[in-house]
Amino acid sequence: DRIPHDAPVLVIGLGRFGAATAGQLERQDRDVLVVDTDAELVQKWAERVTHAVQANATDIDALRQIGAADFAIAVVAVGSSIEDSVLITANLVDLEVPQIWAKAISRSHGKILTRIGATHVVYPEAEAGERVAHLVSGRMLDYIEFDDDFAIVKMYPPALVRGRALAASKVLTKFGVRIVGVKTPGGAFQPATPETVVDDHDLIIVSGAEAALERFSALES
Ligand code: ADP
Repeated sequence: DRIPHDAPVLVIGLGRFGAATAGQLERQDRDVLVVDTDAELVQKWAERVTHAVQANATDIDALRQIGAADFAIAVVAVGSSIEDSVLITANLVDLEVPQIWAKAISRSHGKILTRIGATHVVYPEAEAGERVAHLVSGRMLDYIEFDDDFAIVKMYPPALVRGRALAASKVLTKFGVRIVGVKTPGGAFQPATPETVVDDHDLIIVSGAEAALERFSALES
């Protein structure tokens, strides 16, 4: 959309989630303003990020004072207090921050956040739990699910696809999944082509619908 990809980000709350968000943004050299009620935490972060301010974000005037209305992107990383998370999100909506990412601890919390105007709601614990379920139940080494049931996984290749060109194993017609990348040990991931031959110790990246990927990853190794 119209928000520049390097727009400054306002991060509210420096708990585990907010700290991880702000830390990663900082590593990406993004302009970040972190806000927390805890003076000690703010002090600690002042050395790491562009700006760190002690403020109570449930107070809209405090948010105005720190210039929250000038941000195009804000992250509400306060989760454990649903009341605070809702009030802070409502304040950001009132200040007309266009992109508001909010962390929810439950589906109903997320529903409220969406209803009051959060543009993106994330469920870190539920999402991590679902990922772990996929990872422990098969050959999958990593699993990323997108909206609408589409996912990409990293996995060891089942016997069916090893030792011959990808075109010959016909996984798209047989399983509805597509092998998009292959990595030989020690090498980097390479885009897969119909001629690519997958060896025993390679890793593959596969995309497709969730159920199709589950079927594919359950194949004999
Ligand atoms: P996590 O589960 O990711 O660790 P928490 O919800 O436990 O997140 O942490 C929230 C952080 O947000 C804490 O550091 C807390 O001091 C801060 N916080 C809570 N309420 C406010 C508020 N109203 N304004 C600013 N920061 C807040």
